Amino acid sequence: YNNQVTEVKELVNRVFNDFKMIHPDFTFTLDDDVRRETYVQIYRNHLEQVLIILLDNAVKYSVNRKEIHMSFALGSRSVEIAVQDFGEGISQDNMARVFNRFYRVDKARSRNKGGNGLGLSIAQRLIESYHGQISIESAEGHGSVFRITLPILTPEKRAKLEKLAAEDNKAMHHHSLE
Ligand code: ATP
Repeated sequence: YNNQVTEVKELVNRVFNDFKMIHPDFTFTLDDDVRRETYVQIYRNHLEQVLIILLDNAVKYSVNRKEIHMSFALGSRSVEIAVQDFGEGISQDNMARVFNRFYRVDKARSRNKGGNGLGLSIAQRLIESYHGQISIESAEGHGSVFRITLPILTPEKRAKLEKLAAEDNKAMHHHSLE
Protein backbone atom coordinates (compact mmCIF):
# COMPACT_ATOMS: atom_id res chain seq x y z
CA TYR A 1 0.00 0.00 0.00
CA ASN A 2 2.99 2.30 -0.11
CA ASN A 3 1.98 3.49 -3.55
CA GLN A 4 -1.50 4.52 -2.48
CA VAL A 5 -2.69 7.95 -3.53
CA THR A 6 -5.52 9.64 -1.62
CA GLU A 7 -7.49 12.76 -2.43
CA VAL A 8 -7.64 14.62 0.89
CA LYS A 9 -10.28 17.30 0.35
CA GLU A 10 -13.07 14.83 -0.26
CA LEU A 11 -11.97 12.58 2.62
CA VAL A 12 -11.84 15.46 5.14
CA ASN A 13 -15.28 16.64 4.09
CA ARG A 14 -16.75 13.15 4.34
CA VAL A 15 -15.35 12.37 7.83
CA PHE A 16 -16.44 15.85 8.99
CA ASN A 17 -20.01 15.25 7.79
CA ASP A 18 -20.10 11.78 9.38
CA PHE A 19 -19.16 13.24 12.78
CA LYS A 20 -21.64 16.06 12.40
CA MET A 21 -24.39 13.51 11.88
CA ILE A 22 -23.30 11.20 14.71
CA HIS A 23 -23.06 14.08 17.26
CA PRO A 24 -26.05 16.38 16.80
CA ASP A 25 -25.45 17.90 20.25
CA PHE A 26 -22.19 19.46 18.95
CA THR A 27 -21.71 22.49 16.72
CA PHE A 28 -19.35 21.59 13.89
CA THR A 29 -17.67 24.09 11.59
CA LEU A 30 -15.32 23.44 8.69
CA ASP A 31 -12.94 25.95 7.15
CA ASP A 32 -12.17 24.74 3.66
CA ASP A 33 -11.19 27.38 1.12
CA VAL A 34 -9.32 24.90 -1.01
CA ARG A 35 -10.87 24.80 -4.44
CA ARG A 36 -8.82 22.06 -6.03
CA GLU A 37 -8.36 18.39 -5.37
CA THR A 38 -5.29 17.64 -3.26
CA TYR A 39 -3.39 14.37 -3.52
CA VAL A 40 -1.22 12.82 -0.83
CA GLN A 41 0.75 9.57 -0.67
CA ILE A 42 -1.09 7.74 2.09
CA TYR A 43 -3.31 4.73 2.37
CA ARG A 44 -6.84 6.11 2.48
CA ASN A 45 -7.93 4.09 5.53
CA HIS A 46 -4.89 5.27 7.47
CA LEU A 47 -5.73 8.95 7.01
CA GLU A 48 -9.36 8.27 7.80
CA GLN A 49 -8.31 6.43 10.99
CA VAL A 50 -6.19 9.40 12.13
CA LEU A 51 -9.01 11.89 11.55
CA ILE A 52 -11.40 9.66 13.48
CA ILE A 53 -8.97 9.45 16.44
CA LEU A 54 -8.66 13.27 16.58
CA LEU A 55 -12.37 13.95 16.21
CA ASP A 56 -13.28 11.20 18.69
CA ASN A 57 -10.96 12.78 21.27
CA ALA A 58 -12.32 16.27 20.58
CA VAL A 59 -15.81 14.96 21.34
CA LYS A 60 -14.73 12.88 24.38
CA TYR A 61 -12.83 15.71 26.07
CA SER A 62 -15.37 18.51 25.48
CA VAL A 63 -17.88 18.27 28.24
CA ASN A 64 -19.03 21.86 28.66
CA ARG A 65 -18.58 23.66 25.39
CA LYS A 66 -19.60 21.35 22.59
CA GLU A 67 -17.98 22.99 19.60
CA ILE A 68 -15.54 21.49 17.14
CA HIS A 69 -13.78 23.38 14.42
CA MET A 70 -11.96 21.68 11.55
CA SER A 71 -9.84 23.26 8.87
CA PHE A 72 -8.24 22.16 5.67
CA ALA A 73 -5.56 24.38 4.12
CA LEU A 74 -2.72 24.22 1.62
CA GLY A 75 0.86 25.34 2.10
CA SER A 76 3.33 25.50 -0.76
CA ARG A 77 4.40 21.89 -0.37
CA SER A 78 2.07 20.44 2.24
CA VAL A 79 -1.51 20.15 3.28
CA GLU A 80 -2.61 20.96 6.85
CA ILE A 81 -5.64 19.49 8.56
CA ALA A 82 -6.56 20.84 12.01
CA VAL A 83 -9.07 19.68 14.61
CA GLN A 84 -9.87 22.22 17.32
CA ASP A 85 -11.99 21.79 20.42
CA PHE A 86 -12.90 24.11 23.30
CA GLY A 87 -12.94 21.41 25.95
CA GLU A 88 -10.79 20.57 28.95
CA GLY A 89 -7.44 21.13 27.25
CA ILE A 90 -4.06 19.63 28.18
CA SER A 91 -1.43 21.08 30.54
CA GLN A 92 2.08 21.87 29.32
CA ASP A 93 3.50 18.86 31.22
CA ASN A 94 1.02 16.43 29.77
CA MET A 95 1.28 17.71 26.20
CA ALA A 96 4.65 16.01 25.86
CA ARG A 97 3.22 12.70 27.01
CA VAL A 98 -0.11 12.28 25.25
CA PHE A 99 1.57 10.64 22.24
CA ASN A 100 3.04 7.91 24.47
CA ARG A 101 1.40 4.54 24.33
CA PHE A 102 -1.12 3.89 27.14
CA TYR A 103 -0.72 7.43 28.53
CA ARG A 104 -3.89 9.07 29.78
CA VAL A 105 -3.90 12.45 31.51
CA ASP A 106 -6.36 11.80 34.29
CA LYS A 107 -6.75 8.11 34.90
CA ALA A 108 -9.71 8.37 37.24
CA ARG A 109 -11.58 10.87 35.14
CA SER A 110 -10.74 9.29 31.79
CA ARG A 111 -11.60 5.77 32.86
CA ASN A 112 -15.32 6.28 32.42
CA LYS A 113 -14.75 7.75 28.97
CA GLY A 114 -13.39 4.48 27.62
CA GLY A 115 -10.16 4.10 25.71
CA ASN A 116 -6.69 2.87 26.49
CA GLY A 117 -4.44 5.82 25.68
CA LEU A 118 -3.52 4.34 22.33
CA GLY A 119 -5.28 6.58 19.84
CA LEU A 120 -2.74 9.40 19.63
CA SER A 121 0.29 7.11 19.60
CA ILE A 122 -1.22 5.27 16.63
CA ALA A 123 -2.06 8.57 14.90
CA GLN A 124 1.49 9.83 15.33
CA ARG A 125 3.06 6.59 14.15
CA LEU A 126 0.88 6.52 11.03
CA ILE A 127 1.40 10.17 10.07
CA GLU A 128 5.18 10.02 10.58
CA SER A 129 5.43 6.83 8.53
CA TYR A 130 4.13 8.92 5.60
CA HIS A 131 6.66 11.70 6.26
CA GLY A 132 4.04 13.92 7.86
CA GLN A 133 3.89 15.66 11.23
CA ILE A 134 1.38 15.93 14.03
CA SER A 135 1.43 18.69 16.66
CA ILE A 136 -0.62 20.02 19.57
CA GLU A 137 -1.41 23.47 20.83
CA SER A 138 -3.44 23.47 24.02
CA ALA A 139 -4.37 25.47 27.09
CA GLU A 140 -5.76 23.71 30.13
CA GLY A 141 -9.39 24.58 30.63
CA HIS A 142 -9.69 26.25 27.22
CA GLY A 143 -9.26 23.56 24.60
CA SER A 144 -6.84 22.05 22.12
CA VAL A 145 -5.83 22.13 18.48
CA PHE A 146 -4.30 19.08 16.84
CA ARG A 147 -2.62 19.70 13.48
CA ILE A 148 -1.50 17.21 10.87
CA THR A 149 0.65 18.12 7.89
CA LEU A 150 1.41 15.83 4.98
CA PRO A 151 3.48 16.48 1.85
CA ILE A 152 1.41 17.16 -1.30
CA LEU A 153 2.08 15.05 -4.38
CA THR A 154 3.10 16.84 -7.55
CA PRO A 155 1.07 15.78 -10.62
CA GLU A 156 4.16 13.93 -11.95
CA LYS A 157 4.74 11.99 -8.75
CA ARG A 158 1.05 11.23 -8.51
CA ALA A 159 0.93 9.80 -12.04
CA LYS A 160 3.97 7.64 -11.28
CA LEU A 161 2.48 6.28 -8.04
CA GLU A 162 -0.89 5.58 -9.64
CA LYS A 163 0.84 3.56 -12.31
CA LEU A 164 2.75 1.59 -9.66
CA ALA A 165 -0.41 1.05 -7.60
CA ALA A 166 -2.20 -0.31 -10.70
CA GLU A 167 0.70 -2.73 -11.27
CA ASP A 168 0.62 -3.84 -7.61
CA ASN A 169 -3.08 -4.49 -7.99
CA LYS A 170 -2.63 -6.53 -11.13
CA ALA A 171 0.12 -8.61 -9.51
CA MET A 172 -2.09 -9.26 -6.50
CA HIS A 173 -5.02 -10.46 -8.64
CA HIS A 174 -2.71 -12.59 -10.69
CA HIS A 175 -1.44 -14.40 -7.60
CA SER A 176 -4.89 -14.94 -6.15
CA LEU A 177 -6.08 -16.63 -9.36
CA GLU A 178 -3.34 -19.23 -9.24
P1 ATP B 1 -8.08 5.61 22.98
O1 ATP B 1 -7.11 4.49 23.17
O2 ATP B 1 -9.49 5.16 22.84
O3 ATP B 1 -7.70 6.58 21.93
P2 ATP B 1 -7.54 7.79 24.82
O4 ATP B 1 -8.42 8.85 24.30
O5 ATP B 1 -7.33 7.77 26.30
O6 ATP B 1 -8.06 6.37 24.39
P3 ATP B 1 -5.37 8.95 23.26
O7 ATP B 1 -6.22 9.28 22.10
O8 ATP B 1 -4.02 8.40 22.96
O9 ATP B 1 -6.08 7.86 24.18
O10 ATP B 1 -5.21 10.22 24.18
C1 ATP B 1 -4.33 10.18 25.30
C2 ATP B 1 -4.78 11.14 26.38
O11 ATP B 1 -4.60 12.48 25.90
C3 ATP B 1 -6.26 11.02 26.73
O12 ATP B 1 -6.50 10.04 27.70
C4 ATP B 1 -6.58 12.43 27.22
O13 ATP B 1 -6.21 12.54 28.57
C5 ATP B 1 -5.65 13.32 26.39
N1 ATP B 1 -6.34 13.94 25.23
C6 ATP B 1 -6.35 13.49 23.95
N2 ATP B 1 -7.06 14.31 23.15
C7 ATP B 1 -7.50 15.31 23.93
C8 ATP B 1 -8.29 16.50 23.70
N3 ATP B 1 -8.76 16.79 22.49
N4 ATP B 1 -8.53 17.29 24.76
C9 ATP B 1 -8.05 17.01 26.00
N5 ATP B 1 -7.32 15.92 26.27
C10 ATP B 1 -7.03 15.08 25.27
